[in-house]
Amino acid sequence: MRGTGYQKLWGWFGLSYASFCVMPRILMHEMPDDWQAKMADLLEQFDATFRIEDLPACKVMPVGEKGKFSSWPDWLLHYRRPELARVNALRRAPCETCGTLAYECVCVSALNAPAAGGR
Ligand SMILES: [Zn+2]
Repeated sequence: MRGTGYQKLWGWFGLSYASFCVMPRILMHEMPDDWQAKMADLLEQFDATFRIEDLPACKVMPVGEKGKFSSWPDWLLHYRRPELARVNALRRAPCETCGTLAYECVCVSALNAPAAGGR
C-alpha cells in the first residue's frame, strides 16, 4: 500500500503531526459538484473498509493563539444556511500564472511533481 498514492497522501499531510484530516462541511459543500461526488465516493469506500464505529467518537475543538482552546465562529457551523460572503472570503486567489482556480491549476502540480528522471 506504499505506492505513489501513499506518498501523495503522506505529502498532503506534509510535515504536520496531524493524526486526522478535518474539513469543514460548509466549505466542502462549496467545492465543485464533481469534487463533492468524488469525495462522497471516497468516504463511502473508507467506511466500507474500516469499522470506525469501533473507535472512540471524536469531537473537533478549535485552537486559537498559543494552542489554547477556542470556539468555532457560528457561520462555520451553519452548513444549511451558508454565509457565502464569509465562505468566499476564504477562497484562494486564482493562479497568477494561468488564471485558473487553485484546484484546477496545473502549474502548482507541475511545480510539486518530482523532476523527470527521479530524485
Ligand atoms: Zn496555474
